[in-house]
Amino acid sequence: MGSVKEYFSNLGSGIASLVKGMQVTGKEFVTPKITEEYPDNRDNLPVADRFRAILTLKYDDQGDHKCIACGTCERVCPNNTISLDIKTVETWDGKKKKKLDKYHYDLGSCTFCQLCVTSCPTDALEFSNDFEQALYTRSKLVKLLNYLPEKPEPQPTPEQIEKMKAEKEAKIAAAKAAAEAKKAAAAGAAATPAAPAAQAPAADDAAAKALAAAKGDPEKEAKIRAALEKAAALKAKREAEKNAGAAN
Ligand code: SF4
Ligand code: SF4
Repeated sequence: MGSVKEYFSNLGSGIASLVKGMQVTGKEFVTPKITEEYPDNRDNLPVADRFRAILTLKYDDQGDHKCIACGTCERVCPNNTISLDIKTVETWDGKKKKKLDKYHYDLGSCTFCQLCVTSCPTDALEFSNDFEQALYTRSKLVKLLNYLPEKPEPQPTPEQIEKMKAEKEAKIAAAKAAAEAKKAAAAGAAATPAAPAAQAPAADDAAAKALAAAKGDPEKEAKIRAALEKAAALKAKREAEKNAGAAN
């Protein structure tokens, strides 16, 4: 009798176990798949954006990158993975500036620490998640990151040309005004009571010219006036000294 009871008990637990197993199987039928059938699904294989596969230089839609050739990424890289060729070019306004010539990056020695990316002052670098980087030759792991053709230096706009001309003319005018002011001061200082009629017109003429040249520039005008006043004060002092000497 005992064995019949045991038989049905085992049968019941067997059926319960079977139902539980079928539940698990049924659930997996409707659960989205986790495993990927790579490489069959290569075209739409999901890879996390934060996955660091290879360093890249960011290019915008116009084919420009933001690297200013400061060399920071090269200096901070702990493995000498980055090697930059930098050149100096002249801009339209005659200034010299550093420019990136070649950006070499050795994927084979990169530890993906991302120090180069975080230290770049212009946010010119990023890591791509393109993970298919396997090659047969180590030398091919050294990549040239600035792969697009270099663009010519930007040319000045008409407004910039006008501004440059105006600045140049202003500099020349300022130099002339300063020279005239110096001349006027010298003429005023040299003027003596012995020959007032001969000296005064020349000094006045030079002073007037200097003031005319500085017209429209209050700063220069003020300087010239100050120089003239100084010269006049010097002249008055000399006259007073001379008069005092005559009285004695
Ligand atoms: S840190 Fe940035 S801007 Fe400086 S050289 Fe590297 S990529 Fe260029
Ligand atoms: S991620 Fe690290 S190791 Fe790789 S190039 Fe940048 S700084 Fe060097």
